Amino acid sequence: MRLSVILILTHFFLILPGYGSAHYLIDNGLISAISEADSPENDPLANDPPENNPPKVGHSAMVWHWEDAFNSAEREKIEVWIQKVNKAAEKTLGVYPFAVHCHIYERAGSAEPVPWAHTWRYPEQSLHFYIDTKFTLDNFLDDWTAPHEISHLSIPYLGEDNAWFAEGYASFMQYQVMMELGIYSEEEVNQKYREKIKKITSYYQSNKDLVTVARNLREGRKHSPMYWGGASYFMTLNRILEEKHETSLTSVVRTYQECCRLKDRSLKDVVKSWDEIIGIPLASLLLKDYQNEPAREMVGLYLK
Ligand SMILES: [Zn+2]
Repeated sequence: MRLSVILILTHFFLILPGYGSAHYLIDNGLISAISEADSPENDPLANDPPENNPPKVGHSAMVWHWEDAFNSAEREKIEVWIQKVNKAAEKTLGVYPFAVHCHIYERAGSAEPVPWAHTWRYPEQSLHFYIDTKFTLDNFLDDWTAPHEISHLSIPYLGEDNAWFAEGYASFMQYQVMMELGIYSEEEVNQKYREKIKKITSYYQSNKDLVTVARNLREGRKHSPMYWGGASYFMTLNRILEEKHETSLTSVVRTYQECCRLKDRSLKDVVKSWDEIIGIPLASLLLKDYQNEPAREMVGLYLK
């Protein structure tokens, strides 16, 4: 008998002592299944540095860096775009306890508003957008890149090995921010998640764990399957939080900005902080499964 990941939570409190991972349940017969260049993004290799900016109340400060010549009308359009996305990100992910440095570069003759973007974490938490100003404000607002990049900054840089987690996280969160912007409804976002999972499922039909498969996809420069395989972790985690804990991943992340964003340095730190906010080791259990269980069993959990 195979049960969905959601059902695990029904039993969760009963089996916490002595668990190894959620699949401990399966292995022991308790239940049979548990169930950063963007466009392309490139997070830096540098470790997240110590952040000296003290927490701020209200809007996180945006510091502008105009790296190429832009006229006043272009600057205004770009500022309105980024500030709108930033406001939606603050509502979704919380107010960041540091100033965000926004670098804007011109890439005329592009086929899309933001052909290239990345984050950088040293010496400041920064966003870098390469844009074509011929596109309209609505074109910019409809683009996923800025919601994606701003989302990255809500957790620390986690190292190249954990790109699957960082990119999966930003890919999941970009649509949460776009929902706040009014670009997609909740149903449309959930439909997008389902479509993304269906598209990448064939890449994960492996007995190797999902993290290993995602790292191999990254080495093979198959970025989209790597991103959305990683994003499946956050889809499943969020679904459990919503259906069993009357909360959501974005709510956890908003609390995370206040308690923990500036102190965490590693993936282990982040997941531990989330577990503490949630009140049970849900994020770490699901991570353990992503690190140990066959990818083919994990990738489609959100669809069940
Ligand atoms: Zn990214």
